[in-house]
This record gives sequence, structure tokens and C-alpha cells, in this order.
Amino acid sequence: MFKNLTSKFTHLIRSFSDKYKLSESELDIIIKKIRKILLDSDISLNTVKYLILNIKNKLTTLEVSRKISPSQIIVKSIYDEFTDIMGGLNSPRFKFNINELNVILFTGLQGVGKTTSIAKFAHWLKKKYKKKVLLSSCDIYRPGAIEQLKFLANKNNIDFFDQNLLDITIILKTALNYAQVNSYDFLLVDSAGRLHLDENMMNELSFIDSILKPSYTFLILDSTYGQDAINSSSVFINKFKISGFIVTKMDSDTKGGIILSLTYNTKKPVYFIGTGENINDLDLFYPDRLASRILGMGDIDTLIDEVKEKLTIKDQLIEKSFDMNLFKEQINNLLKLGGFKKIVEKLPSYNFGEINESKLDNDFLKKMLSIIDSMTIKERKYPSILNFSRKKRLWKGSGCKLHDINKLIKYYEKFSKFLSKENYQSSISSKLKNKSFL
Ligand code: GDP
Ligand code: MG
Repeated sequence: MFKNLTSKFTHLIRSFSDKYKLSESELDIIIKKIRKILLDSDISLNTVKYLILNIKNKLTTLEVSRKISPSQIIVKSIYDEFTDIMGGLNSPRFKFNINELNVILFTGLQGVGKTTSIAKFAHWLKKKYKKKVLLSSCDIYRPGAIEQLKFLANKNNIDFFDQNLLDITIILKTALNYAQVNSYDFLLVDSAGRLHLDENMMNELSFIDSILKPSYTFLILDSTYGQDAINSSSVFINKFKISGFIVTKMDSDTKGGIILSLTYNTKKPVYFIGTGENINDLDLFYPDRLASRILGMGDIDTLIDEVKEKLTIKDQLIEKSFDMNLFKEQINNLLKLGGFKKIVEKLPSYNFGEINESKLDNDFLKKMLSIIDSMTIKERKYPSILNFSRKKRLWKGSGCKLHDINKLIKYYEKFSKFLSKENYQSSISSKLKNKSFL
């Protein structure tokens, strides 16, 4: 996410000297560089103008004290402006009513990620709030569209309102009734997208809206569409009541500026971002966290939330003696968080720039699991007994190479050393936060 934008900002910030005063011309050069980065990142011209004006104003009005260097003030100004333009610290959060049915409509052009987002959103509601969620689709035009939602629902253990109806009115009314009678907390409705916005789609949406009276209507936008996504969102907003956005495919390596322009040009909030194709790849949107990530300062808060939500970490990790069984648990935890790459993305690039994520990709993590699975109980408990003949048995059993087994042992030893020195549970977040730039 934002690889391009972040690396440019990281590069710029690293180039700042630690001088306590900057001349006007030095400041001008920096402002020009910031403008160029923003313009190269698919951020619309009016948004760039607004941001640059505000950053400049802030820089000229802020008192430079002996304790804070101009470079820190510049970073802080950009961070504040990014946070504000994306909705600020008070950007609305998703809320729902307890003890009544909440109906939510998902809309957007074809292929932007509506169906995938509904499944992710339902999974999130079930996991985080333990809610009873029903999915329904009125995408009756595209063959397979309803089947796709049904497949995702079944795969992830989410209830799906199954029907063989071809009339939208009847589908919606029966789904609503079914959800009410069966005391569901949520009914999430997938609507049909089109390749291009047209009058028919708008009329159909208004019609669906009049039947469902949803508490939220999310417009799903594909971040890879860049400026086109913003143009189409404006058309939707002008004609239709949209609560806010879910911006998908933020994991793709696009120029990354879409959210800054989107919120500035539409004045509507982003509620969630899609960060991958898997069911867990939906993050709540926090403007300040994203601003921090864009500037290469990481997003430790989201990482901590994910650790809390997705993992059941054993408190006694340190007290238990570390062996291959516990190492296997940690590898599984890494995979649950989306793998090493997803974690590194959320860490400040200043501190972790040297980590080579490709060496620890998900395939390698899975390979390590299969090697551990081929070990005997004794080998897992006492990995130091792994001599050449035992390794030979392992590489035959797990289908790996000797080189992979040696790598696994190397990582195992590194990890156990780390655990013996540090308090794994408490230290990481506080240490990283202290190191962060602001
Ligand atoms: P719809 O036509 O709007 O319902 O779009 P779909 O939900 O069918 O998604 C279209 C494609 O985009 C599918 O291949 C999805 O797996 C993919 N997709 C959706 N959301 C994301 C995301 O956040 N990241 C990535 N990488 N792919 C996504
Ligand atoms: Mg769909």
C-alpha cells in the first residue's frame, strides 16, 4: 500500500538536515519537492493546491523552537494536513443499532469489489461484534453474480438468503421479511453494478433504496481507477444518497493518492479500506493512521488492533519453554495477520527498511510449517538433536531441500534468542511508538 508515495516521502524526510533554521529558499525547494510528490501520485490538482497552501501557511506561522527541528515541523505539518483532508480525527465511524435490524446496501460499478467487500464486512461484524448477519443479492443480470456471493457466504460460514427469484422487488421484500422474522442484526444487500454509470442503474438504486431504507449505503470504489473513481463517485453522490466509501484494492501498488483527493472533492467519509482478496483484508479507516503510513511512519495502532482481534496470543509464551511447537504457533499467527509483508507495511520504514520481506514470504512460512509437521515429538521439543540423518529424513518427508531446513533452524534460533532477551508481549508496541517521528 502506498509503496510509491511512501518511499518518496521517506526519501525526502531522510534528506532533511538537522539544522535548526531553514532559509526561505531551502523551504521553497522542500515545498516544491512535496508538490511534485503529490502531483506524481495521482492526487488531483485542486487537492494538491489546497494541501500545499495549508502546509505553507502552517510552516510560516509555526514557531521554531530549539527542541524541534524544522524538518520535524515539516513532517508534522504534512501529517496534520493529510489527516485533516482525509476527514480528520473526528471522521465518522461505522455505528449500528442494537436490537433491531440494520440494513446496509452496497453499490458501485462492476468489478470494483462489492461482492468481496460484503463478505469481508459480514465476517468482520460476526467476528468483532458476534452479530447475526444475513447476505442477499439482487444482482440478477450477470450470470453467476448471486452464486459468487453464495459461495463466499458458504465458505466463510455466513448466512445467505437463497432464492430463485428474478424480480428485485420480491427478492428485497422477502429478504427483509426473512431477516426480521429470524431476528437478524444485519441484512447486507449486494446490488448490480454496470460497466458504466447509466440512468437505468441510478433508477434501480433509487428503487432499491425506497424499499430497503438502508441505514448505510456504501459506495465501493476501486483505488486502482485513480481519478476515474473520483469522477464516478461524484455522479453517484449527486444523484443518490451515499453514506460514504469503501475503497478497495489498496494493496495494489498504485500511485496511492486517491483517498486524499476523494475525501477533499466529495466531502464524504471513507469507512473502510480493502487491502487484499482474503476475508480478513478489510481495515477500518482512520485518517491519522493512513497519514502516518503514507509518510513512512507505519501504522502501529492498526497492527495492534489486528493482533488483538485475529490472534489468541498465549500470555505465558515467555514462561513456557520455547520449542518448535510454539514456533509453529507463531508462524501460524504471522499467516493469520496476512504474512510478514503485511506486517512490515505497517511498521515505520525508518526502522525496518533493511528487512527483506521477500525472504519470508507466505510460501516460505508454509514450507516451514510442513517441515515442522514432519518432525517427531522429540525433535520438536529438542530441535538441537537434528543431525544430518534426521534432516535427511525431514527433507524427504516434507518435500523440501536441506537448505530450507537449515533456514528454518536459523530462524528458529533467532526467534528463541529474541524471546530470551525481550518481553515479547509488552515491548514491541511501546518501543515502536517511542521511535515514531512525532
Ligand atoms: P463486484 O463486481 O463489484 O462485485 O466485484 P468483486 O467483488 O467480484 O471483485 C472483483 C475482483 O476484485 C475479484 O477478483 C476480487 O477478488 C478482487 N478484489 C476485491 N477487493 C479487493 C481488494 O481489496 N484487493 C485486491 N487485491 N483484490 C480485490
Ligand atoms: Mg458482484
